[in-house]
Amino acid sequence: MLITKTIDDFKNARKDLNGTIGFVPTMGALHKGHLNLIQRAKEENDHVIVSIFVNPTQFLEGEDLEKYPKKEVADKEICKLAGVDILFMPTSDAMYEGDELKIIAPKIRGYVLDGHNRPGHFDGMLQIVMKLLNLTNADMAYFGKKDAQQLSLISQMVKNYFLKTVIVPCDIVRDIDGLALSSRNIYLTKEERTNALSIPSALQKASQMIIAGERNTENIKNSMIDILNKNVNNIDYVEIVNRDFKNINEIEIKNTIILVAAKVGQTRLIDNLWV
Ligand code: AMP
Repeated sequence: MLITKTIDDFKNARKDLNGTIGFVPTMGALHKGHLNLIQRAKEENDHVIVSIFVNPTQFLEGEDLEKYPKKEVADKEICKLAGVDILFMPTSDAMYEGDELKIIAPKIRGYVLDGHNRPGHFDGMLQIVMKLLNLTNADMAYFGKKDAQQLSLISQMVKNYFLKTVIVPCDIVRDIDGLALSSRNIYLTKEERTNALSIPSALQKASQMIIAGERNTENIKNSMIDILNKNVNNIDYVEIVNRDFKNINEIEIKNTIILVAAKVGQTRLIDNLWV
């Protein structure tokens, strides 16, 4: 596995890869959710590129940019063992110059839910993904459904800008207790982690209600909020939308996403269920 930090080194390493390229962009502190994306990329392509870059432009003032978890040694080992060809770990200076051309997320899909709570977050996310897709010239890029809105916006960017990369959505990987894996889970104390389990419990409740025939989204949201309120101090949102991120009154089977964002202690967690 080649580890590259500068753009020139990355481009040189990339030139030597022939065949199809699967790309997995990450912010590091890798866990089994990331590994799942890497393994899928490995299965479906001749070569795999992973990037680790904590992208400053997608963090808002006061968010955890400075203290975002870092596990460089373990991350390199995981990538090596997983058969990654190039691990790209650029610095901010390598990725950005001062006054840059920006990408702006679409007005509706980019500014509801996480886009509303974290204004500008998706602009920065799209900016870095555009750069990385162009640099890697990947055939396929793998993203987790856990970041549902991110995945939807990236798919739209690829479509709107006629990029060649195929975006592959990958299922959410959970811990045995049901909590969706996230690099940020290490911030949680033992008690907070127990409280955080109300997030997958609320989603499970939604799933049970739908299986039992409930279609009214208000009824489902209310039941979810009841579960969350018992353990979570700060619910950002509980929303039920269609795959275009528009609110819906009735569940549409195979076209619905149920999303939760909540703060447990100081840690903001997101999770969702694709129905
Ligand atoms: P991050 O390093 O958190 O920016 O995530 C990098 C990629 O891994 C994104 O496409 C995420 O959606 C995906 N990812 C993170 N956690 C999970 C998970 N628990 N299951 C599936 N994909 C995940």
